[in-house]
Amino acid sequence: MNVLVVNCGSSSLKFQLINSDTEEVAAKGLCERIGIDGRLVYQPTGGEKEVTEAPMPTHTEAIQMVLDALVNEKTGVLKSLDEVEAIGHRVLHGGSKITESRVINDEVIEVIDECCDLGPLHNPANLMGIRACMKLMPGKPNVAVFDTAFHQTMPPKAYRYAIPTKFYKDYAVRKYGFHGTSHSFVSKETIKYLGLDADNSKVIIAHLGNGASISAVQNGKCVDTSMGLTPLEGLIMGTRSGDLDPAVLEFVCKKEGFDVKEMLRILNKESGVYALSDNLSSDFRDLEEAMDNGNEAAGLAIDAFSYRVAKYIGSYVAAMNGVDAITFTGGIGENAGLVRKKVLEYLGYLGIKMDEAQNSKRGENFILSTADSKVKVAVIPTNEELAICRETVELVTK
Ligand code: ADP
Repeated sequence: MNVLVVNCGSSSLKFQLINSDTEEVAAKGLCERIGIDGRLVYQPTGGEKEVTEAPMPTHTEAIQMVLDALVNEKTGVLKSLDEVEAIGHRVLHGGSKITESRVINDEVIEVIDECCDLGPLHNPANLMGIRACMKLMPGKPNVAVFDTAFHQTMPPKAYRYAIPTKFYKDYAVRKYGFHGTSHSFVSKETIKYLGLDADNSKVIIAHLGNGASISAVQNGKCVDTSMGLTPLEGLIMGTRSGDLDPAVLEFVCKKEGFDVKEMLRILNKESGVYALSDNLSSDFRDLEEAMDNGNEAAGLAIDAFSYRVAKYIGSYVAAMNGVDAITFTGGIGENAGLVRKKVLEYLGYLGIKMDEAQNSKRGENFILSTADSKVKVAVIPTNEELAICRETVELVTK
């Protein structure tokens, strides 16, 4: 089955056309600057990347451009759009009502709409993408795969904030968690790859990318995760602060004359390793290079990042009263051997031993722990598009 996987941001749209039988990508690309001017980058597998500038006032024109590219006589990969059998959409926020992926109908659209409050940047864009696909490919099944859904199995003791109940009851203020598609995919792959018993397993997934989060997965179900009401909570990230004393907001606002909105922009866009490295970079490749050249701030950024990851892993070992496996994924988790080494150095008390020779590997599934390590450690590349494709096929063939 050909599945079009769509991931809409406010001014961008990423897509992949995946053959679900072979799980191979036929074509992929992205539309950028939607609502500004418009640019499509399209690449058929094995072919050249093509860039087309064309007006994209809304997501509808962007999707139309993608569909045109897919059936283009020269570089298209389909004869006709009839060959697209289903569309899978990444949706950020499903609130508390959505606990799994869903075939999109009026009720699902209503829930995504209701959750715009909780995901103000992404949910409206996700809805635009869904509506555009429904308009341009009428009758095709659309499936929504939610970033929050996998975390809905968390117990109240993990997801409630210790603030007045009114905020929870009236405004649904609680921990939701994000990157759920990745945590779900990688935890399943971990169980399979390491031959664990799915119904009797304790796994910690460290999804370390520009956005980063950790989850504790017991018997295949999420019991805790580091991101919160929004993706700002938890780990230090590329440009997000992660956990901090909320009183910092008022303190700095007063000193600098900022309002809360400006402060949140800074905590999301100008903090994290970017800030700790004195605005050098949010990219670990740059930070490592600078550290090697003696830049102390870059070294601090990498140290602080790794320390926070290790602390979260430690707390999730406590949350599950044990751990069978820890898996690294995401751009940093899959590639940055230095970060993996630094994190694992903190976890020696668990009897974890890293196989140094393995740690230079990248971009594939591999086991990072030695044979006598008490806890298995793996690196498993995430593949959110493939996860969305699999979920879509499962729902539309039910
Ligand atoms: P996101 O999906 O959140 O945008 P990714 O999971 O793609 O992020 O991760 C991107 C990050 O991965 C980069 O910012 C960089 O810090 C890190 N990264 C990618 N490749 C390498 C590498 N070879 N060595 C170290 N870090 C890397």
